[in-house]
Amino acid sequence: MFEQGVIRPPSEAHSLLVRVTRNCPWNQCLFCPAFKGVKFSRRSVEEVKQDIDSMAEEYGEHAAMIKSAFLQDADSLILKTDQVVEILRHIKAKFPALERITTYARATTLRRKSVEEFVRLKEAGLDRIHTGLESGSEKVLRMIKKGITPEDIIEGGSKVMEAGISLSEYVMPGVGGRTLSEEHARETARLLNVVKPDFIRVRTFALHPQSPMMKMVEEGSLKPMTDEEIVREIRLFVSCLEPIHSYFSCGDYGPNLLMQVNGRLDQRKDAMLAELDKFLSLTPEQKKVYSYLRRSSSMNYPVDVALDPGVMKKILPEIERLEKKGVDGFNRYIADCMACMIPQPQTDNWE
Ligand code: SF4
Repeated sequence: MFEQGVIRPPSEAHSLLVRVTRNCPWNQCLFCPAFKGVKFSRRSVEEVKQDIDSMAEEYGEHAAMIKSAFLQDADSLILKTDQVVEILRHIKAKFPALERITTYARATTLRRKSVEEFVRLKEAGLDRIHTGLESGSEKVLRMIKKGITPEDIIEGGSKVMEAGISLSEYVMPGVGGRTLSEEHARETARLLNVVKPDFIRVRTFALHPQSPMMKMVEEGSLKPMTDEEIVREIRLFVSCLEPIHSYFSCGDYGPNLLMQVNGRLDQRKDAMLAELDKFLSLTPEQKKVYSYLRRSSSMNYPVDVALDPGVMKKILPEIERLEKKGVDGFNRYIADCMACMIPQPQTDNWE
């Protein structure tokens, strides 16, 4: 028997999941359903080692096929460095074929550790850290109660990079709403140009109906953005990123509209901008048809699909039907589709 948490990055879909803490020590981000209603706790090193032993026993000779492992849940490096090192060594001893071990960590946690501690973690086997900055804008970070500052993001991320651990930063277009969109794009790019992480992964904001951000929308303090507005924001964001070596990725997250926008910024920045422009050059009806096709199935489509008269003829009546369903009927449909695509809360208790 061993414990597993509910969340891991998409890139860790085939990884061994080793739970070193339970849930999220912060748990206050207004947009995040993942751990609402469940409490954070640390697990003892002995308990985690017993889990690793149980997994090794269960996998038996197949353990040699496991190539990657992920430490759960939301902020594993909140444990003391000595404890994480001991856990990493034990995983490596029991799963000797592992080629990669990764974890989530918050920027505040990264900032508290020294470069020397990260070097020790790397030597013990930690290859990559996934961290959500969501935004580089202080105003947006405050509004969404992220509990981190631009300084945490720069200092924490830079130390990880200096130690030679791969860094994956997650950005959330749309989360600042229409009012803060430009600042959100520019400030996020400004910070990432300093940190130069290995990966910049896009996680388009989706409004969960239970989220306190829904109340902000109802009260008018948050102006939700349409797909078109979010693509414009991403375009501004990419244009403000310097040609750094970071890999920019939309392709590993279903709620991103244009999942084909991927590539290293020093090699494909212009190509990525051209793909974003291709969408922005569609007529308003074509943009809606493309959004409808993307949001109502898990298929990724080339933008050109909206140039096909046959597709337009088939989908436009559906859009007209949605638009007749009251104020903002089409955009509400798109928002509902997106809310279904994000992790759901483990309880009904969104505190
Ligand atoms: S986004 Fe991350 S830090 Fe924020 S509540 Fe969710 S799991 Fe915790």
